[in-house]
Amino acid sequence: MARVALLLGGNRGDVKRTLQQAQQLINERVGAVMRCSNRYESLPWGFEDEQTFFNQALEVSTDLSPIEVLDTIQQIELDLGRDRAAEAQEKAATGACYVGRPIDIDILFYGAEVIHSERLVVPHPHLPEREFALVPLHEIMRQMVHPETGQTVAEMLSALRTREANKQA
Ligand code: AMP
Repeated sequence: MARVALLLGGNRGDVKRTLQQAQQLINERVGAVMRCSNRYESLPWGFEDEQTFFNQALEVSTDLSPIEVLDTIQQIELDLGRDRAAEAQEKAATGACYVGRPIDIDILFYGAEVIHSERLVVPHPHLPEREFALVPLHEIMRQMVHPETGQTVAEMLSALRTREANKQA
């Protein structure tokens, strides 16, 4: 049994409802949702979009392997209306690196495992630089330690905020 941290996000359609449905499907297919953060609203990151994002972190207890978790969350994204082909077209048409989506599910941590495979990098490589991921994760797992850097989630968040403050100074 492993403890997995997932980040849910989305900015298209009825996002609150989609996040609720995602949580239910995760509970059925990945494993029991042990803790769940509030929903946090944030500005789109890395691209311009008219609708803001909502993010939520979940702690899930699972019997699935990391790659099985990835397959399962990607199927849930599809079942909830994510259309990767349309996103690719929109990226090509606008030249943007990121486009809006109804649901995105990322694996932030899989216990203390470190994975660098073609399909999966865990802990999530952008975690230390994304406030929209660290804030909800901090609510439910602030003492979780990053297995590569040794930093807790609380330390990552305060380091990020210090870097941001220094940039503005
Ligand atoms: P996205 O378009 O943001 O959903 O990115 C999904 C892609 O990132 C997929 O092709 C995954 O194989 C890959 N990926 C690598 N590491 C992770 C991770 N920790 N969580 C989710 N997707 C991952």
